[in-house]
Amino acid sequence: MTNVLMGKIVQLQELSRPLEPDEEQRRVLLQAVSSYAHSFIENINNLPVFAAAEEESKKLPASPISETPIGIDDALQLFDRCVVHPGVKPGSPGYLAYIPGGGLYASALGDFLAAITNKYAGVYFVAPGAARMGKMLLRWIAGFIGYPETAAGDITSGGSIAMLSAIVAAREAFALKAAEIPQAVIYLTEQTHHSATKAILIAGLQECNKRFISLDDRYRMQTGQLKASILQDKKQGLKPFLIIATAGTTDTGAVDPLPAIADIAEEHGLWLHTDGAYGGAFALCEEGRKALPGLHRCDSLVIDPHKGLFLPFGAGAVLVRDGSKLRQAFFDDAHYLQDGKFLASSDEFSPADLSPELSRHFRSLRLWLPLKLIGVAPFRAALSEKILLARYFYEKMKSVPGFELGPYPDLSIVIFRYIPKHGDANEFNEKLIQAVQQDGRIFLSSTTLNGKFTLRLAVLGFRTHLDTIGLAIKILRKKAALIENTI
Ligand SMILES: *Cc1c(COP(=O)(O)O)cnc(C)c1O
Repeated sequence: MTNVLMGKIVQLQELSRPLEPDEEQRRVLLQAVSSYAHSFIENINNLPVFAAAEEESKKLPASPISETPIGIDDALQLFDRCVVHPGVKPGSPGYLAYIPGGGLYASALGDFLAAITNKYAGVYFVAPGAARMGKMLLRWIAGFIGYPETAAGDITSGGSIAMLSAIVAAREAFALKAAEIPQAVIYLTEQTHHSATKAILIAGLQECNKRFISLDDRYRMQTGQLKASILQDKKQGLKPFLIIATAGTTDTGAVDPLPAIADIAEEHGLWLHTDGAYGGAFALCEEGRKALPGLHRCDSLVIDPHKGLFLPFGAGAVLVRDGSKLRQAFFDDAHYLQDGKFLASSDEFSPADLSPELSRHFRSLRLWLPLKLIGVAPFRAALSEKILLARYFYEKMKSVPGFELGPYPDLSIVIFRYIPKHGDANEFNEKLIQAVQQDGRIFLSSTTLNGKFTLRLAVLGFRTHLDTIGLAIKILRKKAALIENTI
């Protein structure tokens, strides 16, 4: 019996052998991937940032998942044609839309090593180094934000999940019970990112009262109205509990008046959450620090390393000023985790104690490796550069006839529109953005502000420099003139 069993096991072992490529096979695979990566990076400055090639993506399912493998060259060809080519390239210097993404080379290497070693980064006792790496990075972020030693946080998959953790921490800090939710009040603005309303929904707070505080002429929360609204709600016996401020809105890059909002939160005993998913990392540089006073005063903060620290997508962070509040929201024990008490000092929090996740990607490595290999100074310089590039664009565009500029940029997003000599401005700007996108050398996006179709230029790519902004100005001028001449 056992001989039959053993025979079968050996046979299965042979069949599963391709899961363990030998050294020569690994060398061939790595060589192919590395040469693909090399040519991708060499070409990213020249290839169009946008390719309308949705048809190509449909060819991917034409090569279905099956019992028969394909070679690495064929796999890379499929990947290139069906995945990389169609759509936008967020790592391209000309990507100036939405919030640009990054993709630092050293981060890719960090991801590679994270996958190869596959350390279990969620629990301190099985991977003390990996857990400590995450904690050390969060401390570093807390440091440049100006958060105290009591702060704790979590490196998440992105800003939306980080936001959810913060909202849950606020809910638990107030020990809001289901019956109290209809009396609770949350303050935000029309410019608050929709990940906030989504988090409110997921956190079971949908029945809270939401007050959308009006905006000033720079799209920032009006604090006078915030205060009046809280007072009124209190008078009516409601329970104001949470303010969601934004340090750099997605639409316009506006920074809410954080010191005044923090004063109000303090005076009335509300939790202040600040969404710095886009803007928070600017606190690393001088210009950014000036634009973000009072950032350290919030109770919780979201910051997205896959935006402002140029990482590939899949890295957000939440920080809570009083770290015990985060633990209170997420700590739970499991009987099968009992060995930890013998293996390591139990006073260390595990990432899993501060997060809804247990098993997780070993994300810290994609942040740690670039910071160690590059040092902080080039990050600081790049962030300053992005702010100055936005200011440069603003100054230059101000003197281009026909263009109307929005407020002077707080950070690195500029909003503007073209006012045509005749006809409807909204229609004109819609045509203009389409012409720019079809051209493909740069990629901008638009938004609607007070009913006005508005164009926006967001500078955050680490590959975006002065030449690209010059090109953007040239293209905008040319396309606007062309459209003006055809109507
Ligand atoms: C991008 C963004 C988010 C959401 O972050 P994800 O990482 O995309 O989930 C939240 N708030 C602001 C201001 C953002 O710019």
